[in-house]
Amino acid sequence: MKALEFCDLGVAYQCNYRCKMCRFWENSPLNKGNVLTNEQWKEILRQLHDLPRADGFTLNFSGPGEIFLRDGIFSLIQCANELGLKSQIISNASLIDEKTARQVNASGLKFLSFSLDGKTARTHDYLRGVPGAWERVMRAIDNIARYSPETKISINTVITKVNLPEITALTELLQEDKRIAHVNFQAITQPFSFADPRSEQWFAQERDGFLWPDAPGLVDQTIDALIGFKKRGYKIADNVEQLALFRDYFLDPGRFIKQGRCNLGSGSVLIIDPVGLVSRCSLVGPIDTLSSGKTLREIIDSPQADMHRMKIDQCQKNCHLVVSCYYQDEES
Ligand code: SF4
Ligand code: SF4
Repeated sequence: MKALEFCDLGVAYQCNYRCKMCRFWENSPLNKGNVLTNEQWKEILRQLHDLPRADGFTLNFSGPGEIFLRDGIFSLIQCANELGLKSQIISNASLIDEKTARQVNASGLKFLSFSLDGKTARTHDYLRGVPGAWERVMRAIDNIARYSPETKISINTVITKVNLPEITALTELLQEDKRIAHVNFQAITQPFSFADPRSEQWFAQERDGFLWPDAPGLVDQTIDALIGFKKRGYKIADNVEQLALFRDYFLDPGRFIKQGRCNLGSGSVLIIDPVGLVSRCSLVGPIDTLSSGKTLREIIDSPQADMHRMKIDQCQKNCHLVVSCYYQDEES
């Protein structure tokens, strides 16, 4: 069994935002009655602790949904900490008032990333679908820096047509802010939705096409600026090769992105969704479900897991997910 490097736990299941780049909120079938309970997640954490893990193993408490809407989230973070599992969270920042920031501190969370998509409130609020969203990110940064000083703050920014003109200025603003540890960019991919089928042509379709950066000059200029910043030591997490891949993708989304095998096939990533489906890539489908009564180890060691890995190795999708989420330099 290969040592795990990353595990995504879908503990959130509801959201208070209306983001343009994620349509989870439109048609989610998830509710308190059909998602895993806190006790079930704690048992999963214990099982993860007993699996082979690489030194830098990271646990990602994720959604779909806003993580701090989950009752009991702090007890899950605490449980992970007690087991020695390093955890991180990405949040829309809407609920981080002083009280929540103090709870973050008490839970021992080491890494907290806020989604911020614009230098201006106008752009960020439009993309997140909620007035006041930008102000709440600023408040959250303040509160975490003040009341949870051991938690590293980072920023996640999805590059779209809407915020492309602000990306350079936003990066400079964040560079100046000593409270921010790093900035992680992602390229817009097809908005997540429970109802809509995946489409390789989503960017050309009316519904979400307005998000697609379609001005080659501005794409070039922005990516050149980001690469320049990175080379000058700015706190941008993405490497130069990945930033360059964003450019290639924006200029020609039909280009086959994944030249080699998808690295999810290596077995170092595990995804558990809110209802307990276990996979390495959810687009390939689940290996099994924890509701079958099997343990994580039994699921990972099963013949279905070998089949799942084979499907990933043979995956011929021109998968836009690998641009941002599962990027791995082809040489590495
Ligand atoms: S991107 Fe996050 S905050 Fe926005 S709707 Fe989706 S789950 Fe909610
Ligand atoms: S769908 Fe994408 S992430 Fe999943 S196996 Fe294929 S290339 Fe990898």
